[in-house]
Amino acid sequence: MSASADDIQAVIAELKKTVSVAGGILYHLGLADYMGHCSARIPGTDRIVIKPRHSASVHGMGTVESERMIIIDMDGKPVEGRDGPPAEIFIHTEIYRARPDIGGIVHTHQMMTTAFGVVGRPILPILATESHDAKRPFPIYSDPDLVNSPARGKALAQALGDHATVHIQNHGVVFTGPTVEEATLSAIHIERLALLNYFSLQLGTPNVIPTEKIDEMLKGNRVGYGVRFAYYKSLLDTGALSARAVVSAPPIAQFLNLTK
Ligand SMILES: [Zn+2]
Repeated sequence: MSASADDIQAVIAELKKTVSVAGGILYHLGLADYMGHCSARIPGTDRIVIKPRHSASVHGMGTVESERMIIIDMDGKPVEGRDGPPAEIFIHTEIYRARPDIGGIVHTHQMMTTAFGVVGRPILPILATESHDAKRPFPIYSDPDLVNSPARGKALAQALGDHATVHIQNHGVVFTGPTVEEATLSAIHIERLALLNYFSLQLGTPNVIPTEKIDEMLKGNRVGYGVRFAYYKSLLDTGALSARAVVSAPPIAQFLNLTK
């Protein structure tokens, strides 16, 4: 095997680990269960690492080891791995095809973000750290059915447009980013933002952070996505990850069934 082939195998092994960790983080935060899937584009190729379809032996997103991750091509055809791809593989293939800038995708049915999509209400940028993820209202793809055909995947990618996040109304959400780490952090940040929107709307009219201020804050000395992802991974590694890492109000978390 040539050095470059070794290199790509090392990249793939690392991506499989990261996709597995991303699933574990989302699962233990209560943002996903056996449904939902994360994926990563293998850089410079038309191949995708993705969690396999759930089955009698592939369970919740928190239990899929990196060795069980599969590789598919851009048509959703399996290239490597013993398990089949998720039915909604076309969320991933069609978004990667339409958006070369996207390297990671997360699909969940997380409750509070989904609720805002159900009522067609924008999640407002009202929290300093998370607001850059919600500078513009997320587009809504209105077909609640599984995105289980290339046509549906294309329509979803079209609805996403140049955004990073899209609601699948009455179904869930798709988060994207340059990497699967960033897409995962978006899922966490936006759920937290949706919760704060919900709380604030009970109390009064939320004060929205102006776009210029969000841009200004982004230029500041901020902790990067890699560091944030490493934080959640460390909680996962020590078994300390819980819904409290996302929300600070356990009764609300319980009410939302966010506690595992
Ligand atoms: Zn789904």
